[in-house]
Amino acid sequence: MVSNVCNDSFDKTNFHSLQAFTANDVKISDDSKELYFGKHVDYIANHGNDKNDYEYCMTEFLRMSGIYWGVTGLDLMNELGRLDKQSIIEFVKKCQCPTTGGIAACEGHDPHILYTLSAIQILIIYDCLDAIDTDMVAKYVASLQQLDGSFFGDKWGEVDTRFSFCAVAILSLIGRMDVMDVEKAVAFVMSCCNADGGFGSKPNAESHAGLIYCCVGFLSITDQLHRLDCERLAWWLCERQLPSGGLNGRPEKLPDVCYSWWVLASLTIIGRLHWISSESLEKFILSCQDAETGGFADRTGNLPDIFHTLFGLGALSLLGDKRLKPVNPTFCMPQYVIERCNLKPKVIVL
Ligand SMILES: [Zn+2]
Repeated sequence: MVSNVCNDSFDKTNFHSLQAFTANDVKISDDSKELYFGKHVDYIANHGNDKNDYEYCMTEFLRMSGIYWGVTGLDLMNELGRLDKQSIIEFVKKCQCPTTGGIAACEGHDPHILYTLSAIQILIIYDCLDAIDTDMVAKYVASLQQLDGSFFGDKWGEVDTRFSFCAVAILSLIGRMDVMDVEKAVAFVMSCCNADGGFGSKPNAESHAGLIYCCVGFLSITDQLHRLDCERLAWWLCERQLPSGGLNGRPEKLPDVCYSWWVLASLTIIGRLHWISSESLEKFILSCQDAETGGFADRTGNLPDIFHTLFGLGALSLLGDKRLKPVNPTFCMPQYVIERCNLKPKVIVL
């Protein structure tokens, strides 16, 4: 555990475990950095402007999620007006499959529950849910639920707790939780809970911070947080913080800005954000900004991307950065949007 390594006297064994521990960490410079607010706005607003850009072409399979990351990031910075709302809504409409009701990452691709959630999040942020057929979306999501309560991601039949989260997030955002079997879905998610208090992608799969976020978010939406072993889970989560201040997703892995979001949002939902050092995490996140182009990278010195930019901003918002709008930890959407939908995903208040 982090605190044991840090607090114990440095006898030989501990020294060696500390060495092994820090081998999977990064060094960040000591000078404190400000948030490059204006640069991040430009970075997101200009993202994908050059349609011939290599990166833009290579990320077609992620297009819908990319738009959600950008829209949410800009809204958190109160700069949503920098994007062309109408063309985004038109794009989302074209990606809904007329047969299944599911939504694809891009026109001409197969629908998937991951992109269906991104599309719904975009439309809800723009307050334009009526742009698509939500009854068809509800039918699509319901059709993916299996007898054991789990969800397929699409017609190809992969099962993962991420898809259980997507299902309840979509259905609660469109107000159609009635189409799924919630009790069975909860039973499946709880069957993926491990002895360390964490969750994996399926029963007996290793705990992983991204999947813990999905399962904790799922239990927050379905009002089942009492099923968690919060103390044990919070220990596992706060052990993700490394000496650099950054958080990793599993033991022995390098810190990564996106895990700032997965771990921090989970800790926020279970009322234990204060179990990690906010100050050193903030320093780590700010060190991952690109001072030239704007945007956040996964780690200090790497190239920025829009995914890590949203999760860097989201984590800073959870840490209380006043330059950003408050973010909802369950949905990773601006809090005012969740309130406008009259949704109250549960959090534990200690
Ligand atoms: Zn990452």
